[in-house]
Amino acid sequence: MTMTRQCMSCGHHGMVHNEDDQETLSFNGETVALTGLAGWFCPSCGEGELDPESSKRYAVAHDDLIHRARTKQREDIGRIRRKLRLTQTEAAKITGGGRNAFSRYEWGGASPMPAVLNLLRLLDNHPVAIAGIEP
Ligand SMILES: [Zn+2]
Repeated sequence: MTMTRQCMSCGHHGMVHNEDDQETLSFNGETVALTGLAGWFCPSCGEGELDPESSKRYAVAHDDLIHRARTKQREDIGRIRRKLRLTQTEAAKITGGGRNAFSRYEWGGASPMPAVLNLLRLLDNHPVAIAGIEP
């Protein structure tokens, strides 16, 4: 017997139960691939609803991904700052955000603006450019 169900989103009578859905989650350059997810999917509109166990696995993987991406971002900020031989105070003078901005970024209390991250990435790739923007 093939089980089907009506889609709550588009009304299509033919949602199918997939036992091996695959999803790749990505966040800030980090990715995680999930396989074997079970749930109902609508071939007509693409809506899907994971079964409780798969839904929980998805949520845990998603939280872990965000945690890893934030940890990596914090470590990158500190690594690049030290590579440029800047103190946290000097780095904050260059990028704004207040005197304690970099201690917050590196301890994880705050996330920098995208412009700050982009500047750090540019300087990571071209560290000699720091000579043009002394604090
Ligand atoms: Zn649908």
